[in-house]
Amino acid sequence: MVANQARLQHDIERREADRQIEELEERVERLALACEAMWDLLRRDQNKTDDDLLHWVRHFDAADGQVDGRIQRQPRKCSCGAMVNYRSHSCVYCGAEVGRVSPFA
Ligand SMILES: [Zn+2]
Repeated sequence: MVANQARLQHDIERREADRQIEELEERVERLALACEAMWDLLRRDQNKTDDDLLHWVRHFDAADGQVDGRIQRQPRKCSCGAMVNYRSHSCVYCGAEVGRVSPFA
């Protein structure tokens, strides 16, 4: 009986994890499509090449000190002393607005 409940719970958690993975894959595909469309528009309008884009991606990647294919954004320090995640616009401890770091955050 307990084993059946554990298996049922495991199955529920597995289906939820599968659903979340599917949702993330769809989101990544939509973002990739939007990036490609923006790049195509920029390439046509500004007469840029794929090499120009690759150069800029490497330059942008290195801006945080590591060329690792990711942007490492640092948390900010609130006036109350708490650290605020770069995705947050306000401090979870005191509620102070800390502003937006990036339109993509
Ligand atoms: Zn604060």
